Order: sequence, then C-alpha cells, then structure tokens
Amino acid sequence: MQHVHDGQCGLCTHFGETHSATEKIVQIRRTKEAPETLVDECGHPRHASLHLVVTPISGCNGFELAHMIS
Ligand code: SF4
Repeated sequence: MQHVHDGQCGLCTHFGETHSATEKIVQIRRTKEAPETLVDECGHPRHASLHLVVTPISGCNGFELAHMIS
C-alpha cells in the first residue's frame, strides 16, 4: 500500500469517474492508502476522450478533491 497525498489521482474526483464508485475507491478516499497496482480511468473532460488510465499516486493540474463518500 502507498500513501496518497492531496493532488494525487486517488483523492481526485475524476479518478474512476467513468463508472460508479467502487468500494476500493471509497476506501482510498477514506484511508488515503492505495495498492500500488491499482489503475483506473481518469474522467477529467480533457483526458476522458483519450481514456487516460492512471494510478492512485499519479496526478495532474486538473486535480479536484473528491467529496468523501460515507
Ligand atoms: S489525471 Fe488529473 S484529473 Fe485525472 S484523476 Fe488524476 S489528478 Fe484527477
């Protein structure tokens, strides 16, 4: 597991945005820890058409902090 900081995909509202939130994503937002091997699509409007796939510790300037679910 790796620590996920503010500004990184795991805490971004666009991480996995292309589908409904999985338990894994909810857990990352809650614990700020993520498995190194997890990848998911970025749903940011400027990346979605490219089907950009990122890890929880990737990041970009399009970061928007996800609302906590639960
Ligand atoms: S690539 Fe940027 S916009 Fe997409 S999930 Fe990561 S931080 Fe968010």
